[in-house]
Amino acid sequence: MTVALYPGSFDPITNGHLDIAIRAARLFEKLIIGVYDTPAKNLLFNTEERVDLIRQSIAEAKLANVRVEPFYGLVVDYAREIGAQTIVRGLRIGADFEREFEMELMNKHLAPDCELVCLITNTKYQFVSSSLLKEVAGLNGYIDDLVPKPVAKALKKKLLAKVSPATR
Ligand code: ADP
Repeated sequence: MTVALYPGSFDPITNGHLDIAIRAARLFEKLIIGVYDTPAKNLLFNTEERVDLIRQSIAEAKLANVRVEPFYGLVVDYAREIGAQTIVRGLRIGADFEREFEMELMNKHLAPDCELVCLITNTKYQFVSSSLLKEVAGLNGYIDDLVPKPVAKALKKKLLAKVSPATR
């Protein structure tokens, strides 16, 4: 069976991420979306919330061969643990390529059998990143057409909770 791992922070999942997952699910018999438990980033959503939002988004997209799991540690170690021969990533801009290229050389050094497949972003979502979405949503900008429905709802709730009573 061909198994692929799509790892990321997904803080939160966007339509750009979902588009990559949908396309990767057509290429492999099984796709595991691996949610980094401890990325080197400031997170808005905890691991459980990020996993839950992806599961709800996947259910809406009706992807039967996709599973969502949190993981801790090296991507290549987790890939080995779940029997994935391939790592899937998405590319939006040149800077993504530079980053993925460097990371892939390290991953190849650590796990020579593991292959990387990069899918180019859908142009509709080229400008979409979780960090920019959080910034725009935090300033009350409209982002509902760029994220799955459960994420739009969760973002509003989370950002409202962050506004201190003094500034409301
Ligand atoms: P990471 O912290 O590993 O970069 P992200 O959640 O930011 O995790 O991204 C996970 C993967 O999804 C990365 O390969 C990233 O380039 C890709 N990605 C993010 N946004 C998009 C998008 N709009 N279109 C295509 N790929 C994307």
